[in-house]
Amino acid sequence: MEKLLLIPGPSPVHPRILQSLAEPTVSHVSPEMASDLTTALENLKKIVFCERGEPFIIAGAGTLAMEIALLNLAAKGDKVLVLSQGYFGDRMGQICESFGIGHDLVRSRWGSAVVPEELEKKIERKKYDIVVSTHVDTGTGACAPVEEYAKILKGKGILYIVDGVCATGGIEERMDDWSIDVVFTAAQKCFGAPPGLAIAVFSERAMAKRKGLPSIPAYYSDILRWLPIMKDPFKYFSTPCVNEIRSLSEATKIVLEEGLEARFARHRRTARAIRAALAALGFTFYTEEAFFADTLSVVNYPAGIEDKTFRTKLSQNGVVVAGGLAETAGKLFRMGHMGNLSTEQIIFALEALERTLGSLGYKLALGAGLKAAKTILE
Ligand code: PMP
Repeated sequence: MEKLLLIPGPSPVHPRILQSLAEPTVSHVSPEMASDLTTALENLKKIVFCERGEPFIIAGAGTLAMEIALLNLAAKGDKVLVLSQGYFGDRMGQICESFGIGHDLVRSRWGSAVVPEELEKKIERKKYDIVVSTHVDTGTGACAPVEEYAKILKGKGILYIVDGVCATGGIEERMDDWSIDVVFTAAQKCFGAPPGLAIAVFSERAMAKRKGLPSIPAYYSDILRWLPIMKDPFKYFSTPCVNEIRSLSEATKIVLEEGLEARFARHRRTARAIRAALAALGFTFYTEEAFFADTLSVVNYPAGIEDKTFRTKLSQNGVVVAGGLAETAGKLFRMGHMGNLSTEQIIFALEALERTLGSLGYKLALGAGLKAAKTILE
């Protein structure tokens, strides 16, 4: 039985995207590949509302995109401020450390995000060259106020990098309007393509900074080595993953066919419906309500529900959710609801959840969840 993958990435892959992967592999310098790459790049810029920046699609995962963003912008001696609301913000700090990039890490309570006033205070007290923030932390389910951070940073001569791995294509990110310098993501989250691609869009300002750096401590991750290929896919630097790029091109077409506003609204509605269902069943959330994300929910186990037993049974019922990361392991489950999820898939998942809870003898308000979700979805 094919299982519905509701972990916070990889998300379910739409049949059109799967089909595109199964087409024969073509030469990496062929007209077919050039057309797929160019389409994906052009569509990406539309998805992050960036008219004049440079998009990059490079084989790898989200963590490579994190490195690409940092290494291509940080000059020797630059100071980076990392706003971390959890696991992946902390990872940004670790990447800075690995490359000897001077940085300060501001950490929020897990389940919330750094408040904008904290960012204001930080940049008043010390000169920073780059600020990095995670849009949605996949470990804690907290969504950061990216637009407000951007407003604070605008005009201050500080480059702003957004980790959109769990947001881009599902939650609004307006690079030009909000003055964001890099948005990066990966294929397997809100685009609903399989894992394997690191994606980053650099603003004009970000490109100018990279071009002004004499060298960076990277070879494969150096965007200036990739720029000629992104401009002219008949050129060679390192063999791109042809089938994956075709699948991303298809995924971005699906995003634009749905329409960005409609897609963001659908993600909002889906999140509301799933959380209404879980609340009606008696679950509470790990994430503070003010920081709820449209792309995933992080759900506390009530007393008596054992993590492994619950997730194994739910998986036998056709739905896969993720456990907690780091210190939250065993205490909660994480349910992704991003990408191309249909109403039928959401209802299937909630039915499976109720069946699982019932079969394990948990005394939650069975039946109430589906009803609560349907009033929002219909
Ligand atoms: N940033 C965020 C917000 C993420 O959710 C993830 C992956 N879950 C990453 C970075 C790292 O991506 P990857 O696992 O594809 O390397």
